[in-house]
Order: sequence, then structure tokens, then C-alpha cells
Amino acid sequence: RWTEALTRRDKDDLRCPVVCILGHVDTGKTKLLDKIRRTNVQDREAGGITQQIGATYIPADAIRDRTKRLQDTEPFDIKVPGLLVIDTPGHESFNNLRSRGSGLCDIGILVVDIMHGLEPQTIESLNLLKMRKTPFVVALNKVDRLYSWKEDPEAPIRDSFAQQNKDVKREFKERMDKANLTFAENGMNTALYYENPDVRSYLNVVPTSAHTGEGIPDMLQILCKLTQERMHEKLMYVDEVQCTVLEVKMVEGLGTTIDVILINGVLREGMTVVLTGLNGPVVTTIRALVTPQPMRELRVKSAYVHHKEIRAAQGIKIVAPNLETVIAGTQMYVQTPEDDLDELKDEVNTEMQDVLSRMDKSGEGVSVQASTLGSLEALLEFLKSPAVKIPVSHISIGPVNKRDVMSASVMHEHKLPEYATILAFDVPVTQEAQQMADELNVKIMTAEIIYHLFDQFTAYMQNIREEKKKNAADIAVFPCRLTILPNCIFNKKDPIVLGVEVAEGICKVGTPICIPSKDNITLGRIIGLEKDKKAVDTARRGESVAMKIQSTNPTEAARLYGRHFDHTDELVSLITRKSIDLVKEHFRDEMEKADWQLMVKLKKIFEIQ
Ligand code: GDP
Repeated sequence: RWTEALTRRDKDDLRCPVVCILGHVDTGKTKLLDKIRRTNVQDREAGGITQQIGATYIPADAIRDRTKRLQDTEPFDIKVPGLLVIDTPGHESFNNLRSRGSGLCDIGILVVDIMHGLEPQTIESLNLLKMRKTPFVVALNKVDRLYSWKEDPEAPIRDSFAQQNKDVKREFKERMDKANLTFAENGMNTALYYENPDVRSYLNVVPTSAHTGEGIPDMLQILCKLTQERMHEKLMYVDEVQCTVLEVKMVEGLGTTIDVILINGVLREGMTVVLTGLNGPVVTTIRALVTPQPMRELRVKSAYVHHKEIRAAQGIKIVAPNLETVIAGTQMYVQTPEDDLDELKDEVNTEMQDVLSRMDKSGEGVSVQASTLGSLEALLEFLKSPAVKIPVSHISIGPVNKRDVMSASVMHEHKLPEYATILAFDVPVTQEAQQMADELNVKIMTAEIIYHLFDQFTAYMQNIREEKKKNAADIAVFPCRLTILPNCIFNKKDPIVLGVEVAEGICKVGTPICIPSKDNITLGRIIGLEKDKKAVDTARRGESVAMKIQSTNPTEAARLYGRHFDHTDELVSLITRKSIDLVKEHFRDEMEKADWQLMVKLKKIFEIQ
């Protein structure tokens, strides 16, 4: 089918590139989008800018019009039919523009506030773009906030700069340098787009103001340039339908509908389509294809225009039966006369399997829940990354329900209470689920930013580790070998008090002590250490301390210095298999190589396997 599609494609028949805006909150994403969409409300229809479902179509004519001033100095041909800008900026829609792990967004705009530089969500967006290998342009927004900026509405950015005074130019340069530096720290080279030495190794930065519209002509031009020059192949129109579900929505009078972005091909009323549902593939028939009513037609009753057929690229609402369980962020397949329905269903299943395959196979790990397949995939990808490495045993889409809490609680049976945790990304938790979680001791962490979930879980794990360490401290025994100082015997019977030198290892309060040269007889536990008349917890190799040992059973209480042992006998800590394991698990950071070597010697003495 692909080869057939290939023969039908025409070199110059390009489809619209799909543009997605990302960035930290309050950097001006929405404002920038508004400005790109309608510089001038009156011109809106005249310029042919049309509101679609979930996206705005900016035709080449409108771009030509908006970049007129720039054309004088920078003439260029627009070859794409226009730009399709996704209307909801942010991760969610970017994540959902996906197909089998690759991105369907052709180019991204990463918005950075020039006054704030790179912020946490900027980095998160950066990582998402990198993960999906999506090319992008940086909008260094809010340049109008530079002190004493002189505005020239809608101007190309170099025209604006030419009019600024020395101080503005200096401040800009300082902030630009700083942004370059932080991008470099995050593994990206950046350059002002008109000074870019090599677009293959440097990201383009376009200074913009969403308030004055300055730099927006530059942004539009560079989006066209980059896509038509560098993605020609990818943008060639093909007949094969490529369509992704952005949202599933209830609409009064229409029932459950899906908002899709049609990237390639043609959709018609009456077509049979296959979608991914929560409980398996959904086969249905397109009842209606609608887009919003143009602004000037607001008199008409219906909010929508119906289409018999629609060609890519477009944002469309689809009305069809049985859409209730459809998962956002999945592909929609169309059945052509050559297609076998079962094969299409298999394809749908493969997509789900692809995502499932990112889970931990051993079945040990946290539960992960997200609102759409796109965000679930992004979250799984993130949890799997080498810097994070949180194992996942269970995934689910939609609100956190009792059923999800039940499956997370299974980790208690596996003796892995820390994994009895649900990381819920951008989904609500039902009241019953929360109640049940409290009863079953399942922790639910919610967040709208992936990083926040990670931070919460890491802090939680840290806590658990500290807690375990505290519990283990009583049983974990550090290796030590002590020689008795003959002139420092302060009490010969229980509790024995004597001066010792730490010959090897680490000596701690709480350590059980025994005498290898006397058949491993035990003396009790160290209950106090003093160095230079001050109480200490720990003494290390080479240190001399006074030590108080108290018996823990009657035989130990009978041991007398001078009768059962004397200064010629060495004392060592009494270790066990369990105590070694605990040191390994919790106190690795306190042990040095020589300490482990002593541990091995002691293991031999006590014949521990
Ligand atoms: P979003 O959260 O990224 O979508 O940010 P918004 O578009 O909602 O903008 C956040 C705030 O910054 C709003 O108060 C905007 O008016 C303001 N803002 C956005 N862009 C600019 C700009 O270019 N210049 C100035 N001065 N303010 C801006």
C-alpha cells in the first residue's frame, strides 16, 4: 500500500506542516499563539486564517501578508500550503500527536521567557522534543520587557533592534548569552537565527514579543523555511490516511465525538474506521465530519460545518457511534477495500503492545496512570531513562479507580511496599479509590508535570530508605578488630570497661563483641564509647577509646577480665549472614575497601558462607 501511495505522490504537492507550541507556564505560549493566529481580527477571514478543531490553519497567503516587510530584506518562496498550528499549547497535545512512538508534530516552538531563562518545564519540553526527535525553534519571548524597549508593532525583529538604544542592545545580548549558556548545559547549541552558522548543529532562536507582534514575521518565515527545505520528503502529500486522536469529547446533540488531526490522506463520511479503545479495538463508521463555523457565519444556528470529505492536513471533529472508550493519543485507521478488518485490529493492538512493552517484565514496580496514551508513553519513557530508572509493573488510562488501587496493593504481597504506589499523571482520583488506597496502604501521587511525580517518588523512596536504615541499624554490624590496652582496665566484670585501640575496621556503639582466640566466646554489646572523655558513636582504625560492654545474657555476665580473657586476646565484632547483608544494603557508603577486607576475614572466622 505504501508503494502505491508513493507512486501517487507529487513532488510539489506538500501538505501543511503541523506546529506545536511548548514551554514553561507563563512564558507566553497562549499569547504567542493568539498573535500568530490573528494579528488583526478584522483581517482574519480575509487572510484566510481558519479556525479548525483543535488547530488553526494559516494559509500561505496569510503568511505572505504577514511577512511582507521581511520579504524586502529576505525574499523567499513559500512552498508549503500553510501552517497548521495546534491550539492547545503544552505537553498534552504534543504527546498525543504520536504514532508508534514517533512524533506527528512536524516542528515545535519552544517558548522561553527572556526575563526568566530556562525553567523546569522548559527543560521537560526540551526532553520531550528530543525524545521524539522533533525539530524546533526557540522563541525568546517578551523582548518588549527589556528596559526602555521601543516598540514597532509587527516588525521583523532586526528592524526592531535597529531602533533600540545601546542599553537595550546590551541587556539583550547579556540575556541571550545567558540563554545560550543554559541551553549548552542541556546539551543544545543555540544561535540567533540570522547569525546561525549551521542549522544542523545550532538551534534557531527567534526573539519575539507576543504583545507587540515583533519577531512574529521572522517566526512564521523560519517555520516555513525549515519545514519546506529540511522536511520536503516527510511533507510530501500521500493518499494513505494518517490520523491521530487528540481528544475524546462529549458534545450536546452529537454524543461522544473525537477530535482528530488528519496529517495525510482524505476522510469521508461513511468510512469504516478502527480505533484503540480501553477494552480493545473499536470498529465504527464515520457519521459526520465537522469543523467550526467561520466567524462571519455566526448568525447560522449550528456551530459546525459538515463536510462530505476532508483532505489533510486538518483538525476535524468526527461523529460516530461507540467512541466512548477511545483513547486519546492513538492512531485512527481507515478500512480501504483491500484491508482485512482483523489485520487492522491487529495493528491497533500492536500500538497498545508497543506501549505495554515499556513496562518492567518482572512485574515488580510502581503503577502508572495517565489520561491519554500519548502522555502515558511519555511518562513511561521518562521513568525508563537511565537518570530515573523507576520500574513499572502496571499501567492504566483514565481516572484512578478502585481496581487500580487493588492492583497496586499487590506489591505488599511481594514484600515491596515502596512500589505499592500509583504515579498519576494529569488524572483525577475517585473518592472511593482514595478511600481504598488509605485502607490498603497504597500511596497515590498526583502531578501535572512529569518531573514533579519523579521528585515526589524520589523523596518518598529516600524516606523509606532512611526508615529502613534506622530499623537496620540495630542489627547491622560493622567489622572491627580491637586490641586491649593493658594499663586501661577500668572494670573487670560486667559491664566490662576497658581501653582499646581499633586495629582495623569501624567500631560502633551497639556492636556485639566476641573473642576468636577463646572459642568465640561473647562478651555482650558495646553500650558506650569515650574518646578524650567525650562520648562518641564510632571509632575508626588507629583510634584509642574507652569502651563499655554490657552482657545480653547470663553466660556473658559471668565473663571476667583476667580469668576468661586478658590483654593478649583480641576482640572482634560478631557478624552474621544477616548483619552482612544489612551493611551491604544500607551502609555501603560508610564502608571502605579495607573494611570489606576485614569483613571477609571475619566471615572465615565465623564460618559464614
Ligand atoms: P502561557 O502560560 O505560556 O500560555 O502564558 P500566557 O500566554 O498566558 O502569558 C502569561 C503572561 O505573560 C500573560 O500575562 C501575558 O500577557 C504575558 N505575556 C505573554 N507574552 C508576552 C510578551 O511578549 N510581552 C509581555 N510584556 N508580556 C507577555
